[in-house]
Amino acid sequence: MSAFISGATGFIAQHIVDGLLKQNYKVIGTARSQEKANKLMKQFSNNPNLSMEIVGDISDVNAFDEVMKKRGSEIKYVLHTASPFHFNVTDIEKELLVPAVNGTRGILNSIKKYANDTVERVVITSSFAAILDLNRFNDNSLVLSEANWNPVTKEEALSNPMAGYCASKTYAERAAWDFLKENEGSIKFKLTTVNPVYVFGPQLFAEDVKNVLNTSCEVVNQVVQSTIDTTLPVDCSGQFVDVRDVAKAHIAGIQNDNCIGQRLLCSQAAFGVQDIANVLNDNFPQLKGKIAKSNPKTNAVENIGICQIDNSKTKELLGFEFIDLKTCLIDTVSQIVEQKIIG
Ligand code: NDP
Repeated sequence: MSAFISGATGFIAQHIVDGLLKQNYKVIGTARSQEKANKLMKQFSNNPNLSMEIVGDISDVNAFDEVMKKRGSEIKYVLHTASPFHFNVTDIEKELLVPAVNGTRGILNSIKKYANDTVERVVITSSFAAILDLNRFNDNSLVLSEANWNPVTKEEALSNPMAGYCASKTYAERAAWDFLKENEGSIKFKLTTVNPVYVFGPQLFAEDVKNVLNTSCEVVNQVVQSTIDTTLPVDCSGQFVDVRDVAKAHIAGIQNDNCIGQRLLCSQAAFGVQDIANVLNDNFPQLKGKIAKSNPKTNAVENIGICQIDNSKTKELLGFEFIDLKTCLIDTVSQIVEQKIIG
């Protein structure tokens, strides 16, 4: 039986595919074009356990019908990672909300229609964006956990792309849990969501390191591309987790029965962009003197200035240590430096 993964070309998804293949799963991935599918197949050395299917824009609620009709009888696990993650949009509703929500509803409905007898576990890549409260992001007394939901309204969602993205993840995840309730008794699959904070870490394939990286790694890349004159804020910028841990959490979502019905809030620690600069200056002599200077004064260690996270429940469920910021950044930036995409 196979694991089906939507958006297999994505930054996080590639690490999940890699993890699944290493554990000898048969994997069916989706890409938006044949060209992207061929590239991924080649990157995975045409591994016979990997096959690719083309699924177009997931704004179409029926986007997954054809593939579920064709391959559904082979699929035991579904991992839905595809969703727009960028802020470069002009129409928030059309470019962020609709694909996120329709993609989630659509894939669950296609499973119900065409793979109801075979699919046992579904893992959806949600986000900390579905948990946080943008209006209280800078409230250090606020402690958020797996139990919280982003209260973002539709009006706020449409006011700027950041709020729009957070709403897209909130509404999509809600749609998934609602689907489960609405279809109680008529579907057999169990649901887990993975809710990561900012995901850093190396690209699975170094050749994918370009001048501009995926949205979350671009936070690190911006520091790599900074100059000695750049002054970075000492404020805390957010929380981070390594992509390899996020991939492991997805795989736990299909393997570990204790994860059924859970939201896995994946976060290692708070960080500020100044902390990133400090690690880079200390560990990359080729960057020191070119990028923003070190400054030992940063607020992230004490997690000052932003809301806090209590993800002890997730950590207990997963049972492994998350990779620390220094290790994560060294691995992320070594790749950038090796590809000579610097300064
Ligand atoms: P990527 O941009 O690398 O991957 C996104 C994937 O979704 C790509 O495969 C992309 O296809 C696909 N996709 C996007 N929009 C559509 C659409 N309209 N129709 C079909 N496919 C689409 O980002 P990440 O790997 O970082 O993100 C993966 C998931 O993780 C997303 O759900 C994101 O919200 C979530 N997430 C990410 C975090 C992070 O910090 N990176 C944090 C929390 C959650 P294509 O390659 O063709 O563009």
